[in-house]
Amino acid sequence: MNDDNPLNLLREDLRDFAGYSSARSEKRSGRVWLNANEAAWPSVADGEGSVRRYPDPQPQRLRETLAGLYGCEPQQLLAGRGSDEAIDLLVRALCRPGGDAIVLTPPTFGMYAVNARLHGTRTVEVALRDTPAGFACDFAAVAEAAERDNAKLVFLCSPGNPSGTLLPLAEIDALALRLRGRALVVVDEAYLEFADGASAVSLLAARRNIAVLRTLSKAHALAAARIGSVIADAELIAALQRCQAPYPLPTPCVNLALRALAEVPRNTTKARVVTAIGERERLFAALQALPGVLQVYPSQANFLLVRFDDAQAAFDGLLDAGVVVRDMRAAPQLGNALRISLGTPEQNAAVIEVLTRNAQMRGVAA
Ligand SMILES: *Cc1c(COP(=O)(O)O)cnc(C)c1O
Repeated sequence: MNDDNPLNLLREDLRDFAGYSSARSEKRSGRVWLNANEAAWPSVADGEGSVRRYPDPQPQRLRETLAGLYGCEPQQLLAGRGSDEAIDLLVRALCRPGGDAIVLTPPTFGMYAVNARLHGTRTVEVALRDTPAGFACDFAAVAEAAERDNAKLVFLCSPGNPSGTLLPLAEIDALALRLRGRALVVVDEAYLEFADGASAVSLLAARRNIAVLRTLSKAHALAAARIGSVIADAELIAALQRCQAPYPLPTPCVNLALRALAEVPRNTTKARVVTAIGERERLFAALQALPGVLQVYPSQANFLLVRFDDAQAAFDGLLDAGVVVRDMRAAPQLGNALRISLGTPEQNAAVIEVLTRNAQMRGVAA
């Protein structure tokens, strides 16, 4: 049980599973490809004829580019349809349907529980602690819960959605060490580009039971292209790929991502992130000074979590002005909170203006 090979964490019934052998995965050299029942001529909508054939399941250039971006080896990375697909793959590959458990730290991203539910997997919740410095993860309680319930997966989100909190790498490392051979610690870094901290990818060399999720959906502005990555031990990655759909990456999306990640445009991504961080600090200060705002959580992401004396009035006031924010009131511990994504400077100014007017109309004193 102390063996740290993460393949031991796979469902036992999947350890010898080879997955679907697609026509594209059979490596052959040939000039004329008549093995996949594809059309012999391109569609009229497909000018360059790049879409006629099934895509490479893991295009090497994309894998290498993403690995370079995230600081890992290409064979440690599996790209898929957003990090949402990676979450689903991890749950399906590690947890027995109808059995096994995962640990969550609410309030957190909803997809971990959704995938667990769909797969018949139990969720064990260890609430984040609401401290004056923001939400904090109780790592000791997470470790105890994972051991007690024999959890196969622990989902951590850093920076947290919606908490905005960045988790200390040393704590993640210690948790993985303690759960070695028992559970995989998943660190969802969907917002790490906006944070002042290093990726848990740096821990992989010493801890084979860590997996990191990254995405092109947030800082890279490619949400509709649906490209996310799971980064982990190379053997585990190969096993996850066998559980993945045969052709997860549409060629137009891959080409778009490669164009976006080419050297020069990458500077524009950096500029967008720098602007967002500046806006975050500006909006944070402005919201804190607003009447009717009870608390603004420090954020290492591209959104702010805000408690209001009357969240309904704030939400409705924004909506009346055409501004849609995320109502968090159904989430645990967030009964009076809204989550506001950072927009352009003009949009953020509009948020402040509407909330100011709204509070004045309700006669709330600063
Ligand atoms: C947005 C988000 C994702 C989803 O990312 P996709 O790559 O678009 O699927 C994953 N995790 C968290 C915490 C998110 O907020």
